[in-house]
Amino acid sequence: MSTLEIRDLHVTVDEADGSVKEILRGVDLTIASGEVHAVMGPNGSGKSTLAYSIAGHPKYTVTGGTVTLDGEDVLAMSVDERARAGLFLAMQYPVEVPGVTVSNFLRTAKTAIDGEAPKLRTWVKDVKQAMDDLKMDASFAERNVNEHFSGGEKKRHEILQMELLKPKFAVLDETDSGLDVDALKIVSEGVNRSLAQAGPGVLLITHYTRILRYIKPQFVHVFVNGKIAEQGGPELADSLEETGYDRFLSPA
Ligand code: ADP
Ligand code: MG
Ligand code: MG
Repeated sequence: MSTLEIRDLHVTVDEADGSVKEILRGVDLTIASGEVHAVMGPNGSGKSTLAYSIAGHPKYTVTGGTVTLDGEDVLAMSVDERARAGLFLAMQYPVEVPGVTVSNFLRTAKTAIDGEAPKLRTWVKDVKQAMDDLKMDASFAERNVNEHFSGGEKKRHEILQMELLKPKFAVLDETDSGLDVDALKIVSEGVNRSLAQAGPGVLLITHYTRILRYIKPQFVHVFVNGKIAEQGGPELADSLEETGYDRFLSPA
């Protein structure tokens, strides 16, 4: 069993005009292996900032608080060390990796994370199985990472990584955005397979309740203005579906 613990996290970004803006204003969140936590909130509330901060994106400066994985200081780790420690982040806006095929990318990432190259025969089989499960054509493996990928292909590629890299914790930032119902189902089934097989803790960041019909969170956190405004069980998502975020936003 593993625990990812976020304590009183404060994060700033540098604005284009040189000013510094505080985005996260004291976030507390504890996730154990096998748990699904939905983080829901209005646009601009800082959800992606939370994801990037956990991942170690250089644009985001942690000014206070802690993030630990089984007691280890995540904030002291490089981005690579975070991945090797078992953290996985699926970006809301994935970057292109020109000249690197999906196949090579996955194998390189797997080797880096495990500290040794995967056994070729089982690896090829595992990749094929995972791609079949996600209804991805075999030719996808020879395309360059995220280059000319459609929105749906990017999301499937992220879940493919999650299934093969078997992280301890996965942060999925708006994995549902831009997916039609069929693609949403395929992607959600991939996450559920990962949960059943490897049992990672999942931080499922979303603006909409739609994905929660397919991936069932045990915990729901409403994120407003850089912190958690309310938390509860799945019923909280149901009430958000009806009322939206208005009741959490103070009148102007
Ligand atoms: P969400 O994912 O909930 O929509 P974000 O974390 O993307 O929210 O953004 C929260 C706030 O931080 C927004 O006001 C956004 O403009 C600002 N912000 C986020 N990232 C940056 C950045 N790299 N540079 C400047 N401002 C940023
Ligand atoms: Mg504080
Ligand atoms: Mg976002």
